Amino acid sequence: MRFDVLTLFPGMFTGPLEESILKRAQERGIVSIHIHNIRDYATGRHRITDDAPYGGGGGMVMKPEPIFAAVEAILGDEKNVPIILLSPQGRLFTHEVAKELSRHHRLVLICGRYEGVDERVREHLATDEISIGDYVLSGGELAAMVIIDAVTRLLPGVLGDPGATFEDSYAWGLLEYPHYTRPAVFRGWAVPEVLLSGNHAAIARWRREQALKRTLERRPDLLEKARLTEEDRAFLARLGWKGPSSSRSDT
Ligand code: SAM
Repeated sequence: MRFDVLTLFPGMFTGPLEESILKRAQERGIVSIHIHNIRDYATGRHRITDDAPYGGGGGMVMKPEPIFAAVEAILGDEKNVPIILLSPQGRLFTHEVAKELSRHHRLVLICGRYEGVDERVREHLATDEISIGDYVLSGGELAAMVIIDAVTRLLPGVLGDPGATFEDSYAWGLLEYPHYTRPAVFRGWAVPEVLLSGNHAAIARWRREQALKRTLERRPDLLEKARLTEEDRAFLARLGWKGPSSSRSDT
């Protein structure tokens, strides 16, 4: 899979993309990440990429010309590549959106700065607009890195254990169960006995129940859409869950 990122601050990407899982995914040829400086596509002696907003007011707005020129040069004749504008006004980035994006062979990510980008980029160039949360960042670079990371770890061959994402939080619509490692007792706090029992069926049941309990306590809204068995429902009912409508009123 190929990511093309358009930014005014390419230096921000050194570091995060060169460590650990993202580094290995690139070395294995599973992903390639291309960082493009929008300024390289600006014309004129000063290669200006932003200007004052029409109508007045503070801040600067990113000009459309260099962004259109960059995307057109990068994609050439290639069609049907999602062109994603990072924006606090976009659709919320979730596990489902990460899965959806991971099915494409290529993505373009446009990082805004300042007051944002000229609206014509959103209207006539971007095919998607994504927010990573209900807060405002100084720029789209961190959001692009979040998306690259979350999408990459879903691609086959990226994680050593192919089942590793299978039980991750959100993968089944639930938060994941708690993890423990050695020592079995740390400062008097013991690991739950079932995990040391070697009884795989009991461990699987305990993990499922912990995931359900945790989701009910922390994110009851997720239970609305989670894939629940009759056994799950019975367990949740014992914890006081009254079904989908009860979590709706909790949120
Ligand atoms: N004035 C804009 C508004 O109120 O919607 C915010 C601009 S923000 C300071 C600058 C850039 O950061 C945005 O153009 C966008 O690319 C990026 N950005 C900020 N918050 C973001 C978020 N929650 N998700 C994705 N990108 C974000």
